[in-house]
This record gives sequence, C-alpha cells and structure tokens, in this order.
Amino acid sequence: MTAHQAAGWWIDRAACRDADPDLFFPLGASEHSPVQVEAAAAVCAGCPVTAQCLTWALDTGQDHGIWAGTTPEERRTMRRALSRR
Ligand code: SF4
Repeated sequence: MTAHQAAGWWIDRAACRDADPDLFFPLGASEHSPVQVEAAAAVCAGCPVTAQCLTWALDTGQDHGIWAGTTPEERRTMRRALSRR
C-alpha cells in the first residue's frame, strides 16, 4: 500500500493529484528552495482538503515533502507544540 493509498478518501480530491511530484518531493535536495515552497504552497492554497492533508501529515510523521503548504521543519515545530499540550 502506498502512502497515497493509505492517506484516505481525501487524496482523491487533492489539488496536487496531477501536479509534478518533484514540486512537492524534490529528489536529491535536502532543503526546499523558497521558490519551490512558494510554488507548492500556491497549489495547496487552492486545495479543498488542506485540513485533512495537514492532519494526516502530522499524525503519520511525514518528514519529507510539502504537505498542506508546510515544510518538514514547520511540521516538526507543529508536532513539538502539539506534544507539549
Ligand atoms: S494541501 Fe497541498 S499537498 Fe495536501 S493534498 Fe492539497 S495540494 Fe496536495
């Protein structure tokens, strides 16, 4: 089962379904460039399932890629803040 299949019903409504995967998961780059993050976030901004995407990415500890317009570092910060509650 792929990560996308495991994600649930919402992935079928994702605005990134037909986008270039390299925009969200760059190969060979340890950090996303600000331009790339901005371009991916622009796709996410028009997505109807952003909340489901972010919840899934946080719940499953997605440590790579742009999910719901967030970078891995931003999600790590969110997870740390949530764990302190
Ligand atoms: S919020 Fe962004 S990464 Fe998540 S499903 Fe939508 S377009 Fe894809």
